Amino acid sequence: MANKNDFGINTQCVHVGEVEDKQFKGAVSPIYMATSYAFDGVDVKRYPRYFNTPNQEMLCKKIAALENAEAGLIFGSGMAAISTALFAFLKAGDHIIIQQVIYGGTYHLIVSEFEKYGIEYSFTDSDHVADFIPLIKKNTKVLYIETPSNPLLGITDIKAIGFLAKERNIITMIDNTFASPINQTPADFGIDIILHSATKYMGGHSDISAGAIAASQAHIDLIWNTAINFGGNLSDQTVWLLERSLKTLNIRVKEQTKNALVMAAYLEENPNIERVYYPGLKSHPQHELAKSQMHGFGAMLSFELKEGLDSMDFQNNLQLIKPSLSLAGLESTTVSPAQTTHALLTDEERLARGITAGLIRFSVGIEETKDLIVDIEQAIEKTKK
Ligand code: PLP
Repeated sequence: MANKNDFGINTQCVHVGEVEDKQFKGAVSPIYMATSYAFDGVDVKRYPRYFNTPNQEMLCKKIAALENAEAGLIFGSGMAAISTALFAFLKAGDHIIIQQVIYGGTYHLIVSEFEKYGIEYSFTDSDHVADFIPLIKKNTKVLYIETPSNPLLGITDIKAIGFLAKERNIITMIDNTFASPINQTPADFGIDIILHSATKYMGGHSDISAGAIAASQAHIDLIWNTAINFGGNLSDQTVWLLERSLKTLNIRVKEQTKNALVMAAYLEENPNIERVYYPGLKSHPQHELAKSQMHGFGAMLSFELKEGLDSMDFQNNLQLIKPSLSLAGLESTTVSPAQTTHALLTDEERLARGITAGLIRFSVGIEETKDLIVDIEQAIEKTKK
């Protein structure tokens, strides 16, 4: 049989990283809930916080295969994965350069924790690679990017970042949550550490909290040394749910991506909408770059209503699409980044990043787009009254 990692994407989603049920030959992975395993002094020491229970170990193989990487690690949340990766590579006296527009929680982690540990950081002024170059110092150890970025769907040139860092022996990290491995595989462009909030597309059903990292085996080994100290492991029951969710990752994300393109084109033509941010639109300033590095444009978009239409009223008037804190579920949701994901920033910081009070982030689900359009139309009419 062919190496499972060489299978097509749907086959990988279903079959890589299954725990074989040798005892009863069940069709799906059994769950090993044990927190204590026999130790004979020779075998691997299995323990949940060592990230190596049978379910954890096998799911890491699926994550790695989907990201075209050698190895993976699974965590209790996206932030557990991100913070562990950052602290694994950074120590007092080191410097990191971070793309300006990133997930608010990651921004908050950096500005509220790094100073305590003597880690220096610089934020770029934009997504452009040219903005990273003047910030590089002798002690720069990590370049951190997020593309497409949250919430404005900015696109950073992954290949150029990989090249810039490799030349200087700097580690690169990417938050690949918005694209998911279906729409973007950054390891193909030389990015070292690929981070996910698996609470989003990987989980996909708005019912689990998880995080994931994919990287080379050597980098995963290094991150593991920090991970066992921080203890952000995922319970095996949730590991099992994540494995089940990943079986449909490709078909879910493909459908959502297809719908997002339809919705973005509709919103762009709608006279009540001021602006749409979606990398799949020709009007997106980095559309060509997105085309060159993404397999699909993703299912997240953002838009601003025309002046006079209140964004909170509009969202409250939606009947099918739900205002919601999270994203990437099967169901379509909206959120006001200024009041939620980016609420911890000051008004000035938000505006500097283009995050206006009226900006709405739209996570497109698998519903029929005609139903989503009807819902938006009726909500706009109600909001006008
Ligand atoms: N990265 C991105 C792009 C996110 O949107 C989020 C959460 O919204 C995170 C990371 C953090 O993930 P979690 O909430 O699973 O810790």
